[in-house]
Amino acid sequence: MKYISTRGDSPKLNFTEVLLGGLAPDGGLYLPEHYPKFTNDELNDMREMSYQDLAFYIFEKFIDDIPENDLREIVNKTYSAETFSYAREEQKAEDITPTLPLKNNLFLLSLSNGPTLAFKDIAMQFLGHIFEYVLGKQGKTLNILGATSGDTGPAAEYAMKGKKGIKVFMLSPHGTMSPFQSAQMYSLQDTNIFNIAIKGVFDDCQDIVKAVSKDLEFKSLNKIGAVNSINWGRILAQIVYYFKGYFDVTTKNSEKVDFTVPTGNFGNICAGHIARMMGLPINHLIVATNENDVLDEFFNTGNYAPRSSQDTFQTSSPSMDISKASNFERFIFDLLGRDSSALNDHWKKIDEGKSFKLKEENFQKIKDYGFVSSSSKHINRVNFIRSIYNDFGVIIDTHTADGIKAAMDHSMPIYPMIVLETALPVKFEKSVFEAIGVYPKRPDSLKDLELLDQKFEVFENSVESVKKYITDNR
Ligand SMILES: *Cc1c(COP(=O)(O)O)cnc(C)c1O
Repeated sequence: MKYISTRGDSPKLNFTEVLLGGLAPDGGLYLPEHYPKFTNDELNDMREMSYQDLAFYIFEKFIDDIPENDLREIVNKTYSAETFSYAREEQKAEDITPTLPLKNNLFLLSLSNGPTLAFKDIAMQFLGHIFEYVLGKQGKTLNILGATSGDTGPAAEYAMKGKKGIKVFMLSPHGTMSPFQSAQMYSLQDTNIFNIAIKGVFDDCQDIVKAVSKDLEFKSLNKIGAVNSINWGRILAQIVYYFKGYFDVTTKNSEKVDFTVPTGNFGNICAGHIARMMGLPINHLIVATNENDVLDEFFNTGNYAPRSSQDTFQTSSPSMDISKASNFERFIFDLLGRDSSALNDHWKKIDEGKSFKLKEENFQKIKDYGFVSSSSKHINRVNFIRSIYNDFGVIIDTHTADGIKAAMDHSMPIYPMIVLETALPVKFEKSVFEAIGVYPKRPDSLKDLELLDQKFEVFENSVESVKKYITDNR
């Protein structure tokens, strides 16, 4: 399998080359040259598989430059019940992403049972193991530089901690994350993890990362890499649980299901789109946004108008406070029939800070791909957290509540509706308390998280001091 850039002007690469690179040299995103399609017989075989077998079966279609046995070992190391241990009492941790039936034809797909209680662990844990493997084979090292507002940082650090050949330099806004989120990162004592708290907001952290990444000499001298959401390895890992969820709630392949996906950078739902292209019988893919509803506007009108960070609201589902979805280009590339020159025309406008509107024929294709969308507000989240708790005794987090709202807007009685649970409620316990008046129960291992010793440096908002710190510690 070779990978091509959406912008059509980059060399074709193998999986491992795409894995360690970021953007393609032409500024585009890498995608597989074609999507492998499963036959009905293959789907029948997959139906009986464990999560690990399913992951291996799917990854193998996209990865042909890692020996089978090695890939198998990476998958088994990544997806273990010990790592994904926070399943609810009625669920089995071995299932990695178990489903939770709420009522007839309404299910949660629990993606957040990993070490940082958000779905990002599913992909990050895989990156941790496969990065270590590939770097080891090539005799290379990597210094991952990232910025986080709360969820990506912990997932990346828990995945990379203790990994050979890898160091993580993670910038976070000093004093603005929740105590739980900062404790998750800052309590890690591993010597390859470096937490840098910047006196500023998340955008300042992001700007420092961008400034460092633009300095190509510094970047190559210091072997700077990234694990941001455009990484193809992350999308690939997320395809698996769509299959897992589908097989869990159906008995034969003639049945179709709907998936609702709380969406920010369009990574998660992009994996759902690819699963559908691979032959998974999906009826609707429902895009759920919060008040930051750029994507909802697009799916309703065909007009894509990203907003600046000043026009992005801070909401109670903060991991979806995104107004320019970094993986959206991959989807539009497919929608435009993989016509790179058309894609370039569209993204030229986006890169100039403008918007584009799809031609009617392309807008129609959104329906063929099964996409619909909805947005929600704080009051909807609070109400759905309350009603899901009252009706089923299940506590959900604010992002999953955005999903439930969108699912209710679009659910059709004949199709099972699977809502992706993208974080556990303890991660956003204040909003949960506001909705139901009780705090979600913390797993014992996290009871005293905020009391653990913390390791982090506080820096002024300065590119030079971050650069110097990296040079001194890499
Ligand atoms: C990252 C995140 C999202 C958004 O996922 P995308 O892949 O960026 O669309 C939704 N919910 C939670 C809890 C997240 O951490």
